[in-house]
Amino acid sequence: KLEGQVSVAQLPTFAKTSFPPCMRNIHEVFTEMHHIKHGARLQFCLFLKGLGLSMEDVRTYFRQEFCKKMDSETYGKSGHDYMVRHLFGKEGKRSDKTPYGCMKIITGSGPSSGDCHGCPFKHMDATNLEKKLDSWKIPKVQTREILRLVEGQHYQIACSKYYEVTHKKGDAGFGLNHPNQYFLESQITLGN
Ligand code: SF4
Repeated sequence: KLEGQVSVAQLPTFAKTSFPPCMRNIHEVFTEMHHIKHGARLQFCLFLKGLGLSMEDVRTYFRQEFCKKMDSETYGKSGHDYMVRHLFGKEGKRSDKTPYGCMKIITGSGPSSGDCHGCPFKHMDATNLEKKLDSWKIPKVQTREILRLVEGQHYQIACSKYYEVTHKKGDAGFGLNHPNQYFLESQITLGN
């Protein structure tokens, strides 16, 4: 139902209301720094594709964001635009790439310093995760619960808890396994 209905202009709102923490974090870094590294570019671009954004929309969005800090000639040479076309199956082997699921993100190589890809529940240390949840106005009680779940390595359950808090639900009502699934469930809950 939602395929093709998301526009670039809606991303700032959706990042706050309907993106799972992994994508909210990347969107935040991208908006603030006008730059994201390779792992985040991959993870985020595929997620946007999964939201139904067209390749042209993602190309424009990436170019606009990167070019707030980079001149367009440098951007042209950076390979970022090629990567977007590649992920949409228009370059290289022309294979259509699928958005990453939670397990792939959680078990994948985590971010090193300056990177922002991965799953915040798995890859952020407790102090940074707590700060992040605080900046997203998650009440302390629930943050403590989330940190306990993370300690027990229940990353997707911790994420579901974040969903429940941000959507004011006692029970998420679905078994989380994919960031794009998170988004769709959120849109249904919010009645969009
Ligand atoms: Fe993203 Fe999945 Fe981690 Fe949630 S559990 S932040 S959806 S990777």
